[in-house]
Amino acid sequence: MSSVVSFEVARHLVERHASGVRPGEIETVDLLAGLGRVLAAGILADRDFPPFDRATRDGYAVRAADLAEVPAWLEVVGEVKAGDWPEPGVCSVGPGQAVGIMTGAPLPAGADAVVMVEHTLLAGPLAGRSVEVRRNVSRGENFVPRGAEARAGQLLLDRGRRLEHTGIAIAASVGKSRVQVFRKPRVAVLSTGDEVVEMDATPGPAQIRNSNSYSLAAQVQNAGGEPVRLAIAPDNRGQLRSLIEEGLKYDLLLLTGGVSMGKYDLVEQVLAELNAEFYFTGTEIQPGKPIVFGSCSADTPVRVDSGFAAPTRTGVSAPHKTYFFGLPGNPVSTMVTLELFARPMIEALAGMTPHPLIFVRARLKSEIRTKTGLKRFLPAVLSGEFENAEVELARWQGSGDIAALERANCYIVIPPDRERIDAGEWVALLIQ
Ligand code: AMP
Ligand code: MG
Repeated sequence: MSSVVSFEVARHLVERHASGVRPGEIETVDLLAGLGRVLAAGILADRDFPPFDRATRDGYAVRAADLAEVPAWLEVVGEVKAGDWPEPGVCSVGPGQAVGIMTGAPLPAGADAVVMVEHTLLAGPLAGRSVEVRRNVSRGENFVPRGAEARAGQLLLDRGRRLEHTGIAIAASVGKSRVQVFRKPRVAVLSTGDEVVEMDATPGPAQIRNSNSYSLAAQVQNAGGEPVRLAIAPDNRGQLRSLIEEGLKYDLLLLTGGVSMGKYDLVEQVLAELNAEFYFTGTEIQPGKPIVFGSCSADTPVRVDSGFAAPTRTGVSAPHKTYFFGLPGNPVSTMVTLELFARPMIEALAGMTPHPLIFVRARLKSEIRTKTGLKRFLPAVLSGEFENAEVELARWQGSGDIAALERANCYIVIPPDRERIDAGEWVALLIQ
């Protein structure tokens, strides 16, 4: 049974399946060890943010009404610096008065604005003096009211959020030195092909080194998973089958190579023998047309720690369903199809809401000629001074050209009905 679907249908199919998976167990880690991990519990504000009316300028805390006419002279009755607490009654602002205030300090009682020091003039020592204010201010100016950013108990970071440096800062600001995160999904990476040898081997004249297992492992890590590289499977049914069975014990299986129409492209056949369910067996894109997506309830021991495993009441393990992607072996196809299709599944298994693909537009620098029929994702270089973005194809020799992808920083997306795009046209780009 083969089904070749459009890019959009393929992507939606993956997203639909991804929305039904469950992440793994929860672990608690030190805050910085949580970088790149997915939160399993939301992070709440432990108090109001800011916790007091916080000055955002150096200057004087004042009553705006006192500055209806400027210049005005106010009596300076004190000073608050960041870290000081202006005790009401001891340090407050009455009519005609001002309190010297520094950025980050709490606004004293009675004040309703801060006037910037640049708009004032004070001669001699501060206490007991008057300050000349040359500009008026509106109520509420130059301070952030208590609780304006967040109220105590308010959700600051949601469960399912991947921790980046901003999330780390938020967690630190509420005193979360340990955070609850989901276990990373273990993603088996299985390269296939008689010609493929490990990178530390000396390749024979017709052999090539395995780069796909490494690019995939790196991409899996970037997407929030933990890659597990399996041995290289030769183009031989028996060995391929036992490695696929091993791979199906993980949270997700990524295969590369062996999904095209060649006589020795056995991946689909072996998966079919294992009663796999296929959701699609190709998409109308280039590179990456032969990609296969499915799942398999393999007759394998269930991993107790797998997100899918659920022991039944009889104590017998429930069927264990593992999703798999058979990615084409050409290195560029492997990398592109992982980003386009496998990434949302990895993200969902990691506990995230998958990232949408982000397309932008830029002006094409030089004409592109291609063939109709497939949606193309062609490695391209986006450049240009300041706001004048322009894009052109990276020079490349086809789907095996890894160096071309290294030079590229985006993909130009060409719709299936276009065979020529002129210089100066706006084209869609996929940015990563
Ligand atoms: P296949 O999809 O098996 O027909 O392979 C397509 C092309 O990708 C062939 O030129 C393979 O030699 C190459 N290829 C397959 N697997 C790998 C791999 N793991 N690393 C690098 N290149 C590969
Ligand atoms: Mg092959």
